[in-house]
Amino acid sequence: MTNKELCDKYPWLIPTNRWTGERVKDFNYEFTELDDMPRGWRIAFGEQIIEELDEEMQTWSAAERENFRITQIKEKWGHLCFYTNGESEKFREIIGKYSVTSRVTCIYCGKPGRWISRGWISPFCDECARENYNHFNASYSSQSPWDEYYIDINEYYSKWEEEKED
Ligand SMILES: [Zn+2]
Repeated sequence: MTNKELCDKYPWLIPTNRWTGERVKDFNYEFTELDDMPRGWRIAFGEQIIEELDEEMQTWSAAERENFRITQIKEKWGHLCFYTNGESEKFREIIGKYSVTSRVTCIYCGKPGRWISRGWISPFCDECARENYNHFNASYSSQSPWDEYYIDINEYYSKWEEEKED
């Protein structure tokens, strides 16, 4: 969907001024709130999450829908964070579901994740991980081992699950 199509269908994607909470005036569809979502995730499930959230919002009152604002969409610790000023339980569930999906979805292109980058934790597919690796290594005279850059995604999340259970 184009930005205009998205905003016509989901007016809550029209950007708002973070300080005043007002919708941006003279809006020309240059960007929407969804543009803050990392590219790969937007490709993989960006419009799906919006559609599901909107469906849930149809059960809200007109006033609740009118006052609703996205406060921030971003990546943190390799997964999707989607902050708003108001929500329902179902709304949180939908966001939670896609947050889990984001952990294993390439943040660059949206394909299934295969590697987690170390340092700045993000999921990458095999192709994007290799492209990054070659790009990093081309900047330095010596080659760093792959393991310094990436950890296998299954290994990473099996550890993470264990830590979470402790
Ligand atoms: Zn990729």
